[in-house]
Amino acid sequence: MLAASRKWRGEGLALGLVPTMGALHAGHLSLVEQACRENSRVIVSIFVNPIQFGPGEDFERYPRDPERDGELLRTAGVHAVYRPSLAVMYPPGSTTRIHVAGVSEGLEGAARPVHFDGVATVVAKLLSAVEPDRAYFGQKDAQQVAVVKRLVRDLDLPVEIRVCPTVRESDGLALSSRNAYLKPDERRAAVCLSSALRQAAVAYAEGERDPERLRQTLRTRLEIEPLAHVEYAEVVDPRSFTPPGSLAVLAVRVGGTRLIDNHDLSKPFST
Ligand code: AMP
Repeated sequence: MLAASRKWRGEGLALGLVPTMGALHAGHLSLVEQACRENSRVIVSIFVNPIQFGPGEDFERYPRDPERDGELLRTAGVHAVYRPSLAVMYPPGSTTRIHVAGVSEGLEGAARPVHFDGVATVVAKLLSAVEPDRAYFGQKDAQQVAVVKRLVRDLDLPVEIRVCPTVRESDGLALSSRNAYLKPDERRAAVCLSSALRQAAVAYAEGERDPERLRQTLRTRLEIEPLAHVEYAEVVDPRSFTPPGSLAVLAVRVGGTRLIDNHDLSKPFST
């Protein structure tokens, strides 16, 4: 357990953890703000977790800016930043991986086969190091939320998982550290994800419930964008990540950049 956690828990202070991979933006900071409202002490972890990246993915070029991150977190009033080294997280010979069967296997899990084992393993390790009362995750990564909630439930981990709404640019694009990869024409094209979600939410509000037609509404909007290549566009249940349901989930390549987004169609889409 971290010394800071031990001290604060000993003093009976409520402790919040916000796990991140750094390159912080307003989406991360919204998690931090909520954590600061709900806890007396907040720890933000920054660790670019190699085991959640597959071969050929962007682990090496993932944006890293430790100084700027530190400055943003100081300004936000965070009480401690935990930046574990690779050697601390995965010492030689550490081979254990957590596999959350079922919910981690479709969609993102199918497209990125090692991803959720890496996420579940690192989240379990961070929770074990920090022992927070609450841990904060973004709805932006909806399947990650489902995987983490199942992990916590199945392993009886004593932590409350708090989920924060997706923060978007004014045109609807969900904030993501990977948006930094987008060239100007790709950035313009990337609005197709939020635009597709908005159109499907309008169709749902007008009474459309046919899963295939909702799916088609998403695809039609995405496919008119020449720079976009759809990996998946589905409407699923938010807990099981299988149809039927009302959560629209998208993964789209825009140029060389893979973007994901989602929206609960039973709610109006707003930026
Ligand atoms: P990452 O650094 O990408 O691993 O993200 C750390 C946390 O921030 C995760 O729980 C994400 O879901 C969350 N997050 C990332 N982007 C956003 C966003 N645009 N709005 C809200 N939360 C976000």
